[in-house]
Amino acid sequence: MRLPPFKYLAPTSVAEAVLMLASEGPGASVVAGGTDLYPNMKRRHQTPKTLVALRRVGELRGVSPTPDGGLRLGPATTLTAIERDSRVRATQPALWTAVRSISTPLLRNMGTIGGNVLLDTRCNYYNQNFEWRRAINFCMKCEGDTCWVAPGSDRCWAVNSSDSAPVLIALGARVRLASPRGVREVPLEALYREDGISWLAKEPDEVLTDLLLPPPGEVRSHYGKLRRRGAFDFPVLGVATAATFHGEVATGVRVVLNGVGSAPVRAKEAEALLEGKRLTDDLVRAAGDLAFKPAKPLDNTDFENAWRKKMVKVYVRDGLQALRATSR
Ligand SMILES: Cc1cc2nc3c(=O)[nH]c(=O)nc-3n(C[C@H](O)[C@H](O)[C@H](O)COP(=O)(O)OP(=O)(O)OC[C@H]3O[C@@H](n4cnc5c(N)ncnc54)[C@H](O)[C@@H]3O)c2cc1C
Ligand code: SF4
Repeated sequence: MRLPPFKYLAPTSVAEAVLMLASEGPGASVVAGGTDLYPNMKRRHQTPKTLVALRRVGELRGVSPTPDGGLRLGPATTLTAIERDSRVRATQPALWTAVRSISTPLLRNMGTIGGNVLLDTRCNYYNQNFEWRRAINFCMKCEGDTCWVAPGSDRCWAVNSSDSAPVLIALGARVRLASPRGVREVPLEALYREDGISWLAKEPDEVLTDLLLPPPGEVRSHYGKLRRRGAFDFPVLGVATAATFHGEVATGVRVVLNGVGSAPVRAKEAEALLEGKRLTDDLVRAAGDLAFKPAKPLDNTDFENAWRKKMVKVYVRDGLQALRATSR
């Protein structure tokens, strides 16, 4: 499979990247590591006329402390650099676990954390080459008008498969986006939409410039990933759990699921049940049962969807037990 022709621009600052993206118009796209975008271009899912590459934009790379004691992750920081960062490993174990579970070491050398949170949604009927998709007359997400997963549906149900997104949401991360209109800062959670085609609340001319993690404080976090092959595979279920413990009492509890919808899903009923309580075995089991409800796996990724839904209970329960068991 060959890439379609495109113009390649290599800005060296955020200001230049924003200007280039705006002046090239809707046919332009940002590329970071290209490990998601280039395969998509080869399969003709996306065919941008111009790519604005972030590789030479130094201010978008690196992990640094913020004045409040948190961490700033430059979005163009490679996954390998994040995996190797001792501060991330020591203070954000769930993020570290999630990042080192992404694809393979070679792809992590190229792939970035920004590209990971903005990853395209995935589906068995979409992540195929052009000829395969043409044989089924395409589908609603790209060039067709039918959803083969839910033929009566007027929306696309492709899944969000980012490993880092549920963890970053559970940790309360915020993002900054730069465009010709200025810079805006929003919780990462607000960037996602439950729609497989329009899965991001981000304008095409916005460049992600910062991922901001709050101070770790006494937060404990855990990430569990269900996939067929341990060596590499996208998650068919990702469960991030986080909470602050006061003795045995948990507050600020977060349970975030991914791979079961077009956006990461907060299991809010489970969170509310656990808030301010001791995480007993019974309570943890009940939370798993509640988290089962908002998970809506469909027949568009690996494994049988009813089994994947059952696994939500198991992974949530295990994630909460892991919080209870760790000192951080
Ligand atoms: C074989 C294989 C296995 C994989 N396994 C996994 C897996 O297990 N888990 C997982 O989560 N991912 C997986 N991936 C997907 C991918 O490798 C990672 O998600 C990676 O982090 C994407 O980052 P990137 O820099 O390569 O993104 P790119 O491909 O460069 O970009 C992805 C998207 O983000 C946009 N973008 C990137 N940076 C910015 C920015 N700063 N501002 C605005 N837009 C931006 C691009 O325009 C594009 O739309 C896999 C990929 C492959 C090929
Ligand atoms: S969920 Fe439906 S519309 Fe979306 S990619 Fe899959 S088949 Fe296409």
